[in-house]
Amino acid sequence: MSSAAKELVELAGRKDLVVLGALAVIGAATEGLGVVLLVPLLILLSGETRFTQLPFELTQVPLAILLAIYVVLVAVRAGTEIARALLAQRVTVSIVDGLRRRALAALFGADWRFLSGQAQSRNRAMIVTSIDRVGEAVQYLTSLLRAGVTLVALAIAGLTLSPMFSLGMVLAGIAALALLRWLRRDARRIGEALVQRYEGIYRKLEEGLAALRLAKMHARGRREVDGTVLEFEAMRQVERRYILTTMAARSAIQIGAAVLLAIAVWFAIEGFSASSAILLAFVALAVRAIPLVESIQAAAQGWNHAAPSLEQSLALIGEAEKNAEPLQTGPVGTPRLRRSVELQNVRFVHSDGRIALMDVSLNIPRGQIAALTGPSGAGKSTVADLAAGLVSPDRGAVLIDGVPLERGARQAWRSRVAYVQQDAVLFSGSVRDNLRWAEPEADEHQICEALRRASADFVLDLPGGFDCRIGEAGRALSGGERQRIALARALLREPDLLILDEATSAVDPASEEKIAQAVAGLEGKCTVLVIGHRGGLAEMASRRFALENGCLLPS
Ligand code: ADP
Repeated sequence: MSSAAKELVELAGRKDLVVLGALAVIGAATEGLGVVLLVPLLILLSGETRFTQLPFELTQVPLAILLAIYVVLVAVRAGTEIARALLAQRVTVSIVDGLRRRALAALFGADWRFLSGQAQSRNRAMIVTSIDRVGEAVQYLTSLLRAGVTLVALAIAGLTLSPMFSLGMVLAGIAALALLRWLRRDARRIGEALVQRYEGIYRKLEEGLAALRLAKMHARGRREVDGTVLEFEAMRQVERRYILTTMAARSAIQIGAAVLLAIAVWFAIEGFSASSAILLAFVALAVRAIPLVESIQAAAQGWNHAAPSLEQSLALIGEAEKNAEPLQTGPVGTPRLRRSVELQNVRFVHSDGRIALMDVSLNIPRGQIAALTGPSGAGKSTVADLAAGLVSPDRGAVLIDGVPLERGARQAWRSRVAYVQQDAVLFSGSVRDNLRWAEPEADEHQICEALRRASADFVLDLPGGFDCRIGEAGRALSGGERQRIALARALLREPDLLILDEATSAVDPASEEKIAQAVAGLEGKCTVLVIGHRGGLAEMASRRFALENGCLLPS
């Protein structure tokens, strides 16, 4: 079994799959028996005596009983169909939701070094669209199973009536499916193209919506709209190609089957003078079997079309899982900062081979405010990521009180660190929701205190106070207000280390002044690493480091 198939079986649950298979067999058996029963019924109805031998004695059974058996068969089939459809839906949901949960867990559990180099539009396309298409793929597989089993049952029924006719029909079905193989291959290529197109749409949308203000300023709105619509049109063209191939297959089967059936009926009547009861039963059988051959082709095309989404999702999930953060082994306690945070001969190389830091050593004693300055691209944020335990160095070590941050300790240390970046990350909801995001158990008093320490008491004057809703991403507030709420959220955690990464670069001077006051008040209580180009918060630091091209400049 391929690894993708194994994955599906595991997510669906073996028991459900076995029951699904059994229900398909029961449904198919009722169909097969129904066709066989047609012959004695037709004989009784037509009074035909000239009759070929049947391997059973159903012709002796009274009409009432035959009809009753028929009704029971239809009822059993209807019941089986309901159970089968519900179970198929459950299997699909288990697979889709299970895969989505795995994808999210893999992404949130992956190492930052890997995540920071990833195209997030790809992940978004995978989580939203590709995994949904996996659901379609599973539905195609279940209908493939159902149609296949029913055809086998019909073939067995046909064999009991006339081996020659039946064999002819089976061979015709196999030939049709073999001849249409190229359309199934084409469906795969179309499916692969569709994965690319969806990624393109997500990329375009993401970049376009993020640049909404810029697009308006530069009067590029119209071109952005046209560009995005073009991406959708490209996707629709791929979809149209797929519809064309499925319809071509369906028409080919219908026309081919009509020709073959006409020839067979002509020979049966003119050449063999076949029993009309058997002939009618065979025509009924063919009328039922032809759409089933169509659905086998359509389901196989559908599976091939959706399979690239499954493969791409599994590949992305596998890649993220391979880059999972190392788990804590053994009872490692949370490191606490009592003496210092230290980087010792640290070297950091990005996944594309770019060297961000070369043998950087620095030491920040507890309770001090340290500033790290340098031009853009110097490696300042990389130092922040290392000190926060978000990434580990390629060489050298990050030490908390002289103990290296290794494996699980790195994750544990992050619960003692708070981080405020240039663009405050806020969520829709109230101010209270945003603060509790970091500390779900925080009470009213703690929230008030954090807001006060962050010079964010303006919140109390907002309509509704803490419960004031701040719009998507906090858009109802100014940049400076957002930043102070982000600082309050960071302080609510009572961190051992607070990192302010260009936290005042984008705020007005009055807000910067307020944030500076808040930070000055932290001296001696919390260790602070301030990152910036120059001036601003960096001025108040008792320790200063300057970086350039990944190297620390002598102080
Ligand atoms: P700063 O914060 O000083 O602007 P960074 O620490 O963000 O600098 O980046 C240091 C260097 O690493 C820069 O040259 C930047 O382009 C590069 N860099 C940052 N992130 C990545 C990444 N995910 N993949 C490759 N290179 C990166």
